[in-house]
Amino acid sequence: MFAGALGALVAVSLAHEAVYAVGPVAQEIFRQPAEDVPEWLPVPNPTKSFWIDSPDANPLASEGSSGSLTTDADVCIIGSGMTGISTAYHLSELLADSSNDPLSAVVLEARDFCSGATGRNGGHLTPRAFMKFSTYAELYGEHEALSSLAIEHHTSNGIVNIVKSAGLELAVDLVEGGHVDVFFDEESEIEARADYKAAHDAGADLQDVQWMDKEDMLSKFGTANSGVRISAHNLWPLKFVSGIYNITKLKRGKLSLHLHTRTPVTSMSALDSQPAGLHSRRWNLTTPRGSVACSYVVHATNAYAGHLLPHMRGSKGIVPTRGQIIAIRANASADELTKVSWSGNPGTEYWFPRPLNATEGEKPLVILGGGRVHAPGHERFVIDDSTVSPVVGEFLRGFLPDVFPGKFDKAREPEMEWTGIMGYTSQGDPFVGPVGEDYDGQYISAGFTGHGMPRAFACGEAVAQMIVANLTGQTWTAPAWLPQRYLTWNRP
Ligand SMILES: Cc1cc2nc3c(=O)[nH]c(=O)nc-3n(C[C@H](O)[C@H](O)[C@H](O)COP(=O)(O)OP(=O)(O)OC[C@H]3O[C@@H](n4cnc5c(N)ncnc54)[C@H](O)[C@@H]3O)c2cc1C
Repeated sequence: MFAGALGALVAVSLAHEAVYAVGPVAQEIFRQPAEDVPEWLPVPNPTKSFWIDSPDANPLASEGSSGSLTTDADVCIIGSGMTGISTAYHLSELLADSSNDPLSAVVLEARDFCSGATGRNGGHLTPRAFMKFSTYAELYGEHEALSSLAIEHHTSNGIVNIVKSAGLELAVDLVEGGHVDVFFDEESEIEARADYKAAHDAGADLQDVQWMDKEDMLSKFGTANSGVRISAHNLWPLKFVSGIYNITKLKRGKLSLHLHTRTPVTSMSALDSQPAGLHSRRWNLTTPRGSVACSYVVHATNAYAGHLLPHMRGSKGIVPTRGQIIAIRANASADELTKVSWSGNPGTEYWFPRPLNATEGEKPLVILGGGRVHAPGHERFVIDDSTVSPVVGEFLRGFLPDVFPGKFDKAREPEMEWTGIMGYTSQGDPFVGPVGEDYDGQYISAGFTGHGMPRAFACGEAVAQMIVANLTGQTWTAPAWLPQRYLTWNRP
C-alpha cells in the first residue's frame, strides 16, 4: 500500500529526540551493519535517571525478581515500559467487557521495573498539532497524515483521562502547561507555517495553536526567538506506568497479572505442536531463572527488539539510538519560567521545569535532553546506557544559558545526568502487529523513534485488541486513530 513511499529510506522526524532534517550522512549512519552492535540486551548497570532514582520513585523496581518464576501464561509480555504495561492494562480492560474466559499474563523485564526508555526519557507528553504534516501528506496521503495526528491525541487524552479518573494527578506530577516550539532560524518557522496551513486545509483541529513573535516570546519567556505554542502535558512517566500496572493488578477481573523484573528473556523457541485452542502453548521463553511457556508473546522491547528478533536489526528494523538528559537547577523562579515545556526547532533539544514541591528550594529543576547530533554518529547504534557522552554533556550545559540569558548559570553543574536507549526506525514510525509468518502468536509494538509518549500507550492498546480478536476468532478492525503504515503487514 505504501511501498513506494516507504521504499525510499526516509527518516521523518516527529520526535523530541529526532533530527529534523535527515541528510545523506545520517542515512549512511543508519545503514551501519547490525553486527556493529555487540550486545542487544539492556546493559545491567544503567546511569541513574531522575525518574527512576529519586527516593521512593520505583517501588516495583525489583518486583518478582526472586522466588519462583511463573512458568506458564496465556500472554507473555517482554518489557515493562509504557508499551508492555499498556498492553496488559488494555487486555484487562477488553476482557472485562467480554464473555471471554479469564487469561493469565506475565511481564518479563530484563532490569528493574520500567528502566528502559520510559524511565529515562524527557517526560514530555506532547501530541503533535501539525508539525511535518506536509511531509506525511506527500508520502502517505492526507488521510494518513491526519491519522498521524489522531493517534497522538488519542494517546494523550487516554493517559490524561486515566490519570484524572484515578485521581493520580499529584502522584504522577501531571502538568497541563502547553508546549512551545522555539524557532532558532527563519526556515524552520517558514516550514512550520506551511505545515500548519496544510493541516488546517485538511481539517485538523488547530484552535489551540498560538503563534508568537520575538517580542511576545521575549516578554513572556525571556528568549528573543519566535515560537508556536500548542496544548500539551508533562508528567513522571515511570509513576504513570506504575499507576496503570497497579490498576491492572488490583482489578481482580479476568486478567491475572504477574511481573518478574531482573529476568531477561535471552532466547525463545517454538514448542512442539499442541492441540489448537485458547490455552495451547506455542512458545518457550528462556530466562536465566527458568523458562516460560506462552500462547501469545508480545515484544514490547523497543530499542532491544533485535535481540530476540534478529530480522529487526539494521536499517529495515529498529536501530538503538542513545539519548542524553541533564537535570539542572534554574536561576529564575517557577513563575518566571512558567509551566511550559519546550523544544527547539530545528534541533534536538527539549526541556521543561519540574513542578516544585515543599522540600525543594524556590528555583525549579529543569529536565533538558538532546544534543545527540553533536556526538560522532549521532549516538546511533549505541546500546550502552551505563555511560554518558562528554560531548553531548558539554553541549547541554551551555544550551539554556544561551537561549534564556540570565535565567540559567553557565557555571552550574547538573544535579543528575543520564542516558537512555531509543528505538529508531527508518520511517520514524513504530512496528505494530504480528511479528510474521514464522512467529505464530507473536506480536510487536516497538520502534517509537524518540517520540513514544504520545504513541506507545495506544500501540499497546492496538496489540491487546489484536490478541483478543485472535482469541475469539474475530477479525480485528483497525481503529480510525491508528495510522495504517504502522502495521507490520504494511511495512516494506
Ligand atoms: C533520553 C530519552 C528521551 C526521550 N524523551 C521523550 C519525550 O520527552 N517524549 C516522548 O514522547 N518520548 C521520549 N522518548 C521516547 C520514549 O521514552 C519511548 O519511545 C517510550 O518510552 C518507549 O516505550 P517502550 O515501552 O516501547 O520502551 P521501553 O521503555 O524502552 O521499554 C522496553 C523494556 O523492555 C526491556 N527489555 C528489552 N529487552 C528485553 C528482554 N530480552 N527481556 C526482558 N526485557 C527486555 C527493557 O529493559 C525495557 O524496560 C525519549 C527516550 C529517551 C531514551
